[in-house]
Amino acid sequence: ELMRATAATVRLADIAANCRLASHLAPGSRTNAVIKANAYGHGMAKVAQSLQDQVPVFGVALVEEAVQLREAGISNPIAILQGPGRAGDLDEAAANGFWLLLHQQQQVDWVLSEKLAGPLTVWLKVDTGMHRLGFAAKDLDTVCAGLRSSPNVQQKPVLCTHLACADDLTDPMTREQVRMIRDCASRNRLDMSIANSAGILFWPESHAQWNRPGYMLYGCCPTGSPVIGSHGLRPAMTMSSEIIAIRNIEAGEGVGYGHDWVAKRPSKIGTIAIGYGDGYPRHAPSGTPVLVNGQRVALTGRVSMDAISVDLTGLKAVEVGDPVELWGQNLSVNEVASAAGTIGYELLAGLTGRVPLHYQRNVRSA
Ligand SMILES: *Cc1c(COP(=O)(O)O)cnc(C)c1O
Repeated sequence: ELMRATAATVRLADIAANCRLASHLAPGSRTNAVIKANAYGHGMAKVAQSLQDQVPVFGVALVEEAVQLREAGISNPIAILQGPGRAGDLDEAAANGFWLLLHQQQQVDWVLSEKLAGPLTVWLKVDTGMHRLGFAAKDLDTVCAGLRSSPNVQQKPVLCTHLACADDLTDPMTREQVRMIRDCASRNRLDMSIANSAGILFWPESHAQWNRPGYMLYGCCPTGSPVIGSHGLRPAMTMSSEIIAIRNIEAGEGVGYGHDWVAKRPSKIGTIAIGYGDGYPRHAPSGTPVLVNGQRVALTGRVSMDAISVDLTGLKAVEVGDPVELWGQNLSVNEVASAAGTIGYELLAGLTGRVPLHYQRNVRSA
């Protein structure tokens, strides 16, 4: 079998444990487990199969993602977080048990006017401050009244909002958003869904009838903290590769495209079989940490499509074929992302199709 050393190992048992942690932190809430964007790179179908008995509902962004889950045999309801993109999505939703988040009037008009094979479950998104999607609080009562009398809607909608600043534990915006949606919900006597991962971990007042954890399911802290295992989270992915070449260069010689990095001393340079073609961030600068044989070394020079180089000078007994961790249980994806000027979410969601995902089942990490 063709086995490329560059691969992401995914520990489904850790995702299950992180999901239990989310439920434990918000004991009165039901979980809408967010597995959009290929489960943040972890493989949507596999993650759904491993969580299907543990969570009542899955959340994805798009109807297309929900269809893929049905094709993979997942029978849980699936919430489409961006709602229908066209009127035809409503029939697809009614036929397949997709829940629709409605965030603007056109989507509501479709619900009120389409002839459907059966009624829909809908959530209504309220714009409490993100100013991206959702109804203004002042328009909400009218929208609710319209939907109440529609035969296309099978039960009361859940009111949903998305927190804009919850990863900043000092920002007063979160409390303001929670206050606004609670106000709308009590006026209309509706259930709510507010908390994403940051809400679940840091804002108990955002815990409502439904929570929507994403990033934390994969063992990562939404504040961008480089600490591994904070709050009991278990990083579920290890991105690995290997050293494919080692060379010695003189002081003054450059490494990689544009010679952005120039050796200040005689140096031992290792080349690793991963690059931006795999989803390793091209903007990671020299100095970004990489683990070789479990030891921290620094990226040297630009990230290429298929390779990166690291400075192995002074490292003992390092050879071609030695294992490399780009991020995982010993190097936080948040730390690598932060070095590259981005967030761990982007690195996980940005893994490309050429990286094989290997699943470890029933393995419990410490
Ligand atoms: C992606 C998403 C989430 C999950 O957010 P995390 O920060 O990954 O927990 C929750 N709700 C909505 C509407 C989303 O789009």
